[in-house]
Amino acid sequence: MARRRQLYEGKAKVLFEGPEPGTLVQYFKDDATSGNGTKKGVITGKGVLNNRISEYLMTRLGEIGVPTHFIRRLNMREQLIREVEMIPLEVVVRNVAAGSLSQRLGLQEGTRLPRSIIEYYYKSEGLNRPMVSEEHITCFGWAATQDLDDMVALTLRINDFLSGLFLGTGIALIDLKLEFGRLYENDELRIVLADEISPDNCRLWDARTGEKMDKDRFRRDLGKVEEGYQEVARRLGILPEAGVRDMKGPEVMQ
Ligand code: UDP
Repeated sequence: MARRRQLYEGKAKVLFEGPEPGTLVQYFKDDATSGNGTKKGVITGKGVLNNRISEYLMTRLGEIGVPTHFIRRLNMREQLIREVEMIPLEVVVRNVAAGSLSQRLGLQEGTRLPRSIIEYYYKSEGLNRPMVSEEHITCFGWAATQDLDDMVALTLRINDFLSGLFLGTGIALIDLKLEFGRLYENDELRIVLADEISPDNCRLWDARTGEKMDKDRFRRDLGKVEEGYQEVARRLGILPEAGVRDMKGPEVMQ
């Protein structure tokens, strides 16, 4: 059988044409970048773990009625997803000050915020992910007011649900980045959760010790990077049975 046609290659994932119209195959790589691509590396087994973690979290979200692009996991590194029209925004929701918020406003990392806050960043090559406001988003037509309302409502639900889910495993959800897409179904437009939810785009700290279990271990050279991702999967009860040796996984499905 011919190799699937590659449609897009990003920093951590590759998208291939799916088996049926309206579907895509999302392949998770071990590659990691940070600082807008200035730092590059490989986190062995990350793709396998993120595929599983994202499958697990999107499935749980689907069960409470959050629409997602996820259809099913195909193998160690690939999942079948619905093709959506991506909205060019990163929606960040924060519960505790960390990262760029701490830097920008001089807030000590770990300071609990009085309420969860949402920020938007514009996804565009070469612009270094600028923060934007609702005014920019609607003025430049990246999303309509109704799309934004839907994204905010979904983001708050997702954040509340995942905060509880993670806390049940002793993990504090500090912040997370979400991406959404438009799905046209029977002439109706729906905003659905897309991309992935994994330690690549969440901050996850041990609720008791504050130990980081996310990509900050890579970004900040904290060591034990693989172990952080594995610990998240272990706590969620989804670490592949064969353990670390199982992590390489098969190559792209033919
Ligand atoms: N994040 C992301 N992609 C990016 C930048 C940030 O997924 O290109 C996530 C990051 O993992 C964190 C949240 O968005 O969970 C907020 O990140 P922040 O704005 O603090 O940026 P950073 O400090 O990572 O540069």
